[in-house]
Amino acid sequence: MTGDRERPCAVCGATGLVVQGAGREATVGTVAALLEAGWLVACPAGHRTPPDAGSEVADEVAARLPQARRRPMARADRCTSCDAALTMPVRRTERPVSVTEVPGLPVTTVVLDVPSTRCGTCSTDQVPTRSVDDVRAAVVALFAADAGGV
Ligand SMILES: [Zn+2]
Ligand SMILES: [Zn+2]
Repeated sequence: MTGDRERPCAVCGATGLVVQGAGREATVGTVAALLEAGWLVACPAGHRTPPDAGSEVADEVAARLPQARRRPMARADRCTSCDAALTMPVRRTERPVSVTEVPGLPVTTVVLDVPSTRCGTCSTDQVPTRSVDDVRAAVVALFAADAGGV
């Protein structure tokens, strides 16, 4: 059982305290992700490794970041909010996403540099379907043991 600010060590499984480490960044395909506070689990055996929280963080990012949808056989992405066809040009945008619901992890802001398209009908900015998998992979990579420092 783990409590507030505690996660299992990714190396040995012992419960450790979540402490702040150096920033981390990862780029996958069309998406760059940045963590200003790269959390580390400080376990009793002395390991200092990122918490095994990548998929949990990616789930919450996916829930908070609007992402376009595609219908089977449709050529254009559809707006996640109003279902209009998305026809505006894709631009790169910087999108900070705050993750608050991952057990044991302090509030974490993931800054994403992502392609984005705006719905011409309801103005919702959203990630095109072709970049959705890259968002997830880049966020997961932030928590990999070999992710690069900033
Ligand atoms: Zn350990
Ligand atoms: Zn819309």
